Amino acid sequence: MGSIAQSTKRSITSEDISTLQSLLAKTSPTLLTPEDDKYPASIARWSAAAQKPAGLVLAPKSNEEISIAIKYASAQNIDVAVKGGGHSTAGVSSTDGGLLIDLNANLRNVEVEVEKKLLRIQGGCTWGDVDNAGAKHGLATVGGTVADTGVGGLTLGGGYGFLTGQHGLTIDNLVEATVVLASGEVVKASKSENADLFWGLSGAGQNFGVVTEFVLQAYDQGEVWAGMLIFPPTPEVVEKLVTALNDLYTVDSNGKTKGAGRAAGGLVFMKPPPTFDQVALAVPTIYFGTEAEAKETFKALYDIGPLADTATLVPYPVLNTLMAPPIGLRASMKGAAFTMPLRVQSVQDILANFIQFTNDNEDAKGSIIFYEMLDTIKVTEFDAGSFANRGPHMNALIMPLWTKTENDQTYRKWARDVNVLFKEELQRSGHETGKGVDGGVGIRGSKGAVLLYGNYDRESNLPPIRSIVVLTTDYFVTEYDEKSRDIFGDNYARLQKLKAKYDATNVFNKLFAITPQA
Ligand SMILES: Cc1cc2nc3c(=O)[nH]c(=O)nc-3n(C[C@H](O)[C@H](O)[C@H](O)COP(=O)(O)OP(=O)(O)OC[C@H]3O[C@@H](n4cnc5c(N)ncnc54)[C@H](O)[C@@H]3O)c2cc1C
Repeated sequence: MGSIAQSTKRSITSEDISTLQSLLAKTSPTLLTPEDDKYPASIARWSAAAQKPAGLVLAPKSNEEISIAIKYASAQNIDVAVKGGGHSTAGVSSTDGGLLIDLNANLRNVEVEVEKKLLRIQGGCTWGDVDNAGAKHGLATVGGTVADTGVGGLTLGGGYGFLTGQHGLTIDNLVEATVVLASGEVVKASKSENADLFWGLSGAGQNFGVVTEFVLQAYDQGEVWAGMLIFPPTPEVVEKLVTALNDLYTVDSNGKTKGAGRAAGGLVFMKPPPTFDQVALAVPTIYFGTEAEAKETFKALYDIGPLADTATLVPYPVLNTLMAPPIGLRASMKGAAFTMPLRVQSVQDILANFIQFTNDNEDAKGSIIFYEMLDTIKVTEFDAGSFANRGPHMNALIMPLWTKTENDQTYRKWARDVNVLFKEELQRSGHETGKGVDGGVGIRGSKGAVLLYGNYDRESNLPPIRSIVVLTTDYFVTEYDEKSRDIFGDNYARLQKLKAKYDATNVFNKLFAITPQA
C-alpha cells in the first residue's frame, strides 16, 4: 500500500452536478466548473505541479453545504479532495475530475475568545489569518512559519512552528475540532467528546473528514527578534557555524538547550535573490525575548562575522512573512531527519551537492535545503494524538523550486537523492534502524515510525518509487518513499479501526491513506 492511495473513486458527471445543484439549492452554494472565472483560483496550488482539474468545485460557506456534498459524493463513490491552504506539494488537496471542497475560498474567519485565550479558526484559514487575528489581542499559537500556509493540512499532520520550543506541536494546542464526517454527519471532537476521533485527527487528520473549525490554545505574545545572518559557503565558515549551532540546539545532559525553547532558526543553503548567482549560508535567528538576550544567545554566530544581518524586533505576524518562498512555481518538498550535534563533513557534503545542483541547473536556482532547528524538548515531553514522529530529531527540508515541466522528474529525483544523504548520516551516527514496511528500511523512533514528518510530503505525478539503491555502511538496498505505516508506526492499527468507524468507504484517501479494518 502506497502513501498516496490508488483511488478507486470515479469522476463527477454532468448528471451528478445537476443532482448536487438541486440538493444544495436551499443553501445558495458557490459551485464552480472550468467555465467559471473563480475556478482557476480554487484549483491553484502553492506548487503549480500539484494542481489538478477538478470536475466540480464547491466553495462552501456552511457545514450544511459540505455535509450535503460529502454525503452525496460518498454514496456515489465520487473522488473527493479537500483544500485548506493548498500548500501540499503531493497533489493531495487536488482531484482529477472529482469534487473539490475548497475551504480556502470562503471559510477564513478567526474568532478570538480573549478571556480563555482561544482561537476559533475556520477550516480554510491560512496562518496569516490566525496570526493577524491573534495579534490584535496580543496572542499567538504554534502555527506555520510561512503565513500563506494553510491551518488545515499543517494542523492535521502535526504542525511545527517557531513557538514549538515553548508550546510543542500545533496538535499539542488543539482543543476542539468540528468535523463533517464521510456520512455527512457534523460532529465535535475534543478530549471529552468523540475522544477517539480527536486522537486520530491529531496527526492523521486528513483521513477522517472535513474539519470546518479548529479551536487552538493561544498565549500572550509580543514582539519577536527575527531575521537572518548571511555567510559565505567556505569550509571554515561551515565548521564554525556547525559548532555554534550544535552548541545552541543540542540537548545537554540536564535535558536542556542553550536557547531554552526561545531560540529557533537553523541553517539554509540558498542562492539569495535578486541575482540568485552565488550560494550563501543563511542562518535564521529567531528569539522570543529582548534584543539584548537575542544578541547574547546568538553571540557565537555574530562572532563568525556575517556578511549581512537582517535581524530586528518585529511583530509576531511579521515573523511568519520573513521566509516565504514564492507561490505558484513548480515545487517539491522532501523531508529528512537529522540529529544534533551535526557532523561537519556531512554538512559539507550536502552543501557541495547543493552547490553543484544549483550551478548546473539554471531553472532550479531558487531551490533551498533547510536544516530547521528548534528546541525539541516540548515535542518529546507532550504526547497528543496519533502523530508518531516525536523525538529528539529535527526536520530538514529539501525543496527544489523550478518553472519548466520538463524538469519535474530530474529535480524531484535530486530531492530524493539528497534525502538519501540525510538517511545515511542518521545510520552512520548510530541510530537504530528497523525494517520498513514492504521491505524498505527506515530509522525507527519510539513509536515505530520512520521519524519523517508526513507534512513534508513526497511529490505527486510520479509512479511510486519502489527502490532507490544506495550503498550504506549497513544496508545495500534502501527505499526512501514513505508509506502510511512508516509515518504512523505503531499507531497504524488503531487508526485502521478508527477509519472503519468513521470512514469505512475511504472517502478521505489521499495523503498517507489508511485501510479501514474493524
Ligand atoms: C511554504 C511552506 C511552508 C511550510 N511551513 C511549515 C511549517 O512551518 N510547519 C509545518 O509543520 N509545516 C509546514 N509546511 C508543510 C505543511 O504543513 C503542509 O504543506 C500542509 O499540507 C499544508 O496545509 P494546507 O492546508 O496548506 O495544504 P492542502 O494542500 O490544502 O492540504 C493538505 C492535506 O490536508 C488536507 N486538509 C487541509 N485542510 C483540511 C481541513 N480543514 N479538513 C480536512 N482536511 C484538510 C487536504 O485534504 C490534504 O490532504 C510548509 C509548507 C510550505 C509549502
